[in-house]
Amino acid sequence: MRTLRFLFGRRLERAGFTLALGLTWPSAQVALHYQIDFGPPHSHLFEVTLTVEKLRGAFVDFALPAWRPGRYVIQNFAANVLHFSAFDETSSPLPVEKIDKQTWRVTRNKAKTLRVQYQYYANVLDAGSSFLSEEEAFFNGSNLLVYVVGRRTEPVTLRIQYPEGWRVATGLARTADPRLFTAPDYDVLVDCPTMVSPTLTTFSFTYRNVPYFVHIQGEGQYHRDRLVADIEKIVRYEVDLMGGTPFRDYHFLFHFVPHPFSHGVEHLNSCSIMRGPADKFDEDEFYRSFLSVVAHEFFHAWNVKTIRPAAFLPYDYRHEVYTRLLWVSEGLSTYYGALAMKRTGFTDRRRFFDWISGMIDGLQMNPGRKVTSLEMASWDAWLTGYGSGPPNATVSFYSKGALVGLLLDLEIRQRTGNDRSLDDVMRSLYTEYGLKRKGLTAVEFQRAVERIVGRSFEEFFRNYVRGTEDLDYDAHLLHAGLRLRREVDDNKPAAFLGIGYSGNEQETTITNVLTDSPAYRAGLDKGDILLAIDRERAHQGNILELLKKKSPGDTVVVTVFRRNQLRDFQVVLGSGGNLKYAIKQIDQPTPLQKKIFESWTGDSWEGTSKKEQTAGDEK
Ligand SMILES: [Zn+2]
Repeated sequence: MRTLRFLFGRRLERAGFTLALGLTWPSAQVALHYQIDFGPPHSHLFEVTLTVEKLRGAFVDFALPAWRPGRYVIQNFAANVLHFSAFDETSSPLPVEKIDKQTWRVTRNKAKTLRVQYQYYANVLDAGSSFLSEEEAFFNGSNLLVYVVGRRTEPVTLRIQYPEGWRVATGLARTADPRLFTAPDYDVLVDCPTMVSPTLTTFSFTYRNVPYFVHIQGEGQYHRDRLVADIEKIVRYEVDLMGGTPFRDYHFLFHFVPHPFSHGVEHLNSCSIMRGPADKFDEDEFYRSFLSVVAHEFFHAWNVKTIRPAAFLPYDYRHEVYTRLLWVSEGLSTYYGALAMKRTGFTDRRRFFDWISGMIDGLQMNPGRKVTSLEMASWDAWLTGYGSGPPNATVSFYSKGALVGLLLDLEIRQRTGNDRSLDDVMRSLYTEYGLKRKGLTAVEFQRAVERIVGRSFEEFFRNYVRGTEDLDYDAHLLHAGLRLRREVDDNKPAAFLGIGYSGNEQETTITNVLTDSPAYRAGLDKGDILLAIDRERAHQGNILELLKKKSPGDTVVVTVFRRNQLRDFQVVLGSGGNLKYAIKQIDQPTPLQKKIFESWTGDSWEGTSKKEQTAGDEK
């Protein structure tokens, strides 16, 4: 099978590289050489040097991305650049002019080779950031490596000047020199996050002749053999599902941190995942949630890194890049991450159903589902995708995208007598778009579904993807012999107020008031500091207990501080605060319902899955 790395390999050879024993050797023909030096750890400054040969024109522009693939919001990494300067081959300074927020123009003055140097302040540690400390150096190239405008497709080398005894984890191609790496172009260079530290631990396994590396930075209560074996199970499942890999090697870059944290970012042949607190890895639920992040990020190697929205081919790092397909890229990766967990036996039936019904609860509670379609939530990710924007006004392209993926999967199975599924759609997108490096559009995604099924899905996409119709869970779940019920959650009060809040026992702030809820009708507002309910002191820890003393229809006085003024609001409590969705199997499934259920979940209708029985180490 043609893989991306194979394509890269051919380009490398053309560029004068020789591929031998998996090592690539820089050649004299490469004209772009990056180097990263580490400043004093407490300065958090990387020193970046880029040497450019084969100069053309009177000036050269150098630009830093305004965003990074994986997070569709402007981050303006150029804000962290200090002391940008340029020199010719005799180290004489060259004039530098900044021409916009992220672009530096260097006047060439007939130099044959020029060198730019700058410092990058790297003091944020999450999966997509860059960080320099005494313990480690971690960087995402999209944060700190400038590109030469007009020369992004040329091969490059990267030298990392790390201290003696430190080790490197990266998806970049290695050379015989342990500090020197190569990439066929800028896009690959910056799609390979890199961890460097003296304490890196690396494990590996091979599947279908592809080596996988599990790199861990940080201590943790993880069981080493189990962790690697479980990741291998997920890898095997997803590789088999998609029928091959778009990479020649793959690297899991894990940061296990002491504080509560969960963040993952996908890349071409790697992913970066930060998870904590690291002393919880021996707890089943925590460990399971960690594996589900692994399953999600790994699926991205196909879905978004290879099956790529047309707008991302190539990436334009200078500004927002609009696509209607983030619900496919993120929502379907979320759905397939959960399916992988189910089908490999890490998640049991109850947890899988609870995961679905929990997302249904969230979406049905969110007034934004009537305001913004899934496609527009994708399009406006740059504006509102990460919690900014007005309250109750949008949906998550992750969770609604996953639910629409679920409904789509069940609908495809129903209409084809379970001969086809969303799996077939993903595989066809991989071969027809991904491997051919052809970008995908929203129309083409719908056409791909319709091609697999042989019938129109116009109504489905009009209502659920482009429109704001409520999802018909009942009709679609029934295809698999399931129905949605509303159950009473004894932990919650029946009386419904309709606020979100956060804080502690000292001070609790209302963070959201649901549109048209009892709290909204009474005039409560986001930002109000909650003091009392019916004169009893209320805070984060006791709101539910106070409401449990009330009944639906009761009028209560909610007392708050609003801009330092003490205010009372009369709230007529609603009902249903204790209702939650639950998914149940029906009593008398048809043969088709049973068949769909079994091939979709990997379970037998009656009992536990074969997979669960073999996964005896999973509690
Ligand atoms: Zn994702």
